[in-house]
Amino acid sequence: MSQTQHHQSSVVATEIPITTQMLWDYLDEQLPENEMIAVEKALRDSQQFQQRLIHIRELRDSGEHTLGAIWRRYRVSCPTREVLAIYLRNAGDPRQMEYVHFHLNVVGCRYCQANVTDLSRNG
Ligand SMILES: [Zn+2]
Repeated sequence: MSQTQHHQSSVVATEIPITTQMLWDYLDEQLPENEMIAVEKALRDSQQFQQRLIHIRELRDSGEHTLGAIWRRYRVSCPTREVLAIYLRNAGDPRQMEYVHFHLNVVGCRYCQANVTDLSRNG
């Protein structure tokens, strides 16, 4: 691919929503330039993004090389209701709680999200 690259100095970087996949690709240096700029800006402006990036880098360093691999690994095993209840009380093993957090918020498993909603209603 040798398309002419237009130099876009007027890209409104902030309008691009930063996804986990983008941060992942950012670490792999696979992002298109405008998204790269958006991520770098977000990282400068937000400690939350810095934390997310650090977290993703840790996952990478622990041997997971693609987001897809992580996604599949977490998707195949939904936590039990018991584990979700412990997660709600924030009382479990940190590694397990991190896994539940990932499953709910990054994978976004609707089944487990519904379970958590149900559990939090019943107290
Ligand atoms: Zn699930």
